[in-house]
Amino acid sequence: MIIANNKVVSIAFTLTDGQGTTLDETETGKPLDYLHGADNLLPGLEQALTGKEVGDNFQVSITPEEGFGVVNPDLIQSLPASQFEGIDKIEPGMAFEAKGASGKVEHVIVEAVEGDTVRINANHPLAGVTLNFDVTVVAVREADESEIAHGHVH
Ligand code: ZN
Repeated sequence: MIIANNKVVSIAFTLTDGQGTTLDETETGKPLDYLHGADNLLPGLEQALTGKEVGDNFQVSITPEEGFGVVNPDLIQSLPASQFEGIDKIEPGMAFEAKGASGKVEHVIVEAVEGDTVRINANHPLAGVTLNFDVTVVAVREADESEIAHGHVH
């Protein structure tokens, strides 16, 4: 069966960044199931899967622009530590949810703590990263009506 819209596809993949570091991978025997044509995957990855069939293995590289965006320097800010009230110890790598200027909730990561200054980054963790997927198609089946109606796999 060829991968096309309204097929449920199971893929095994390894995702590495531009330096070859593994960012994510499926476990053996636990592929990722998704509904093709329902925006379940990054568009560049879904496009590369169209027309493939079980057993096909391929590599696709997705630029930051086609992936999670480029790094926006405006989303990296230095704040006084006094703004982090109620937190005993602020350490690099900590994640917070914060209300941005627009009122929208943003996920921010503490990048660095220098004295009384905390540098936070509200970019997506994969912003600026080239995504190199190595993909194997494990299974393809027809989606059922409720899956198509909901836009995801059941
Ligand atoms: Zn559903």
